[in-house]
Amino acid sequence: MTALDLHAFYKDLHANPELSFCEVRTAGIAAETLRSLGYTVTEGVGRTGVVAVLANGPGPVVWLRADMDALPVLEETGLPYASEARGIDPAGTDVPVMHACGHDMHVTAMMGAARELFATKDEWSGTVVILIQPAEELGQGSRAMLDDGLLSRFPKPSVVLGQHITPIPAGMIAVRPGPQMAAADGVSVTLYGRGGHGSRPQATIDPVVMAASAITQLQTVVSRSVDPRELAVVTVGAVHAGLKSNIIPSEAQLEISMRYATEETGEAIREGVSRVIRGVAAAAGAEREPRIEAQFGLPATVNDPEATARIQAAFGRTFGDDNIIDIGVLTGSEDVSWFARDAGVPLVFWFWGGIDPATYAEAAAAGKVDELIPTPHSALFAPVIEPSLSVGIKALVTGAREFLGAIECD
Ligand code: ZN
Ligand code: ZN
Repeated sequence: MTALDLHAFYKDLHANPELSFCEVRTAGIAAETLRSLGYTVTEGVGRTGVVAVLANGPGPVVWLRADMDALPVLEETGLPYASEARGIDPAGTDVPVMHACGHDMHVTAMMGAARELFATKDEWSGTVVILIQPAEELGQGSRAMLDDGLLSRFPKPSVVLGQHITPIPAGMIAVRPGPQMAAADGVSVTLYGRGGHGSRPQATIDPVVMAASAITQLQTVVSRSVDPRELAVVTVGAVHAGLKSNIIPSEAQLEISMRYATEETGEAIREGVSRVIRGVAAAAGAEREPRIEAQFGLPATVNDPEATARIQAAFGRTFGDDNIIDIGVLTGSEDVSWFARDAGVPLVFWFWGGIDPATYAEAAAAGKVDELIPTPHSALFAPVIEPSLSVGIKALVTGAREFLGAIECD
């Protein structure tokens, strides 16, 4: 096999992105590369997931996770290796596809880390398990891998580590103990009334008025039931009721999304939403209880305090303390924590910079970071390959080596 050229590897993945659960080519290339690097590789775990194991004596088992799916975005970066790919989305629509979240960088950095960990295996003892995860963008890939027997078929982890590229200067790493990313819950609500003629409201129980009242009152859930210092969002993103002005419909639907960083806040929000919905129905004299149905739930990404302190110290030694920062809790969500939650072990998930430091400094000096620095999911998101890639590799290796056992010399 020819030597692994990681820049070429990255550009190839970037030019050939694949949608969630369609990452057949990407998974195949990752599997073949990991096999050639000396790992024992299993493909098709959770549909397109790849698991690569390097058992290297007794000691801790470190799971290193990279997600690999792309997004339905038409790339506008103008890069020579820009994507022109198309795919079929879950609704059956033909869509453009782009690595707009940088998962191509995640996979490439993982290949570099795999190579480095293999090359230095006489310096450590334990087991490395690499997860190349599908469908993070659907919030379903980690669950699919776990449901496919991840914990019973492969060595169980002592710790789960993962990373995401982010629009901060390349060379910097953001990590914090405790909440790192928000949880996201989606619920669908149906309010039941009694339909009738629009001219005779007294003979009906109007679900449109209930919905209107609920939407307004839901705004008080965050403002009145949650500690103002906590991250909390309640958004009613869709309302459906009725067909015609002179008909009072018999039901109304609300689609609600909630974001929060801690379970306590999540509980307070869910309770508040339920109270408002039930209260509105009761006040209207509804004859049937409203239905509140959970649509999906992504847990908060919460970093284990002790394990994170070790990672912060190790990163500080490797990259310099000034380059390790805390950018707060991100309101976005991730499905990485299911791995650690199901296994009952610590998680550390960090963000590493992908923006050319000079470009970033210029934008920051002009007070125009938001306008000038494209963020993930943008058609313009394009991390600089270096030093992003080298830092991403070093971060994974540093993180893994912090937990793997050192070989003692006598
Ligand atoms: Zn994303
Ligand atoms: Zn992402």
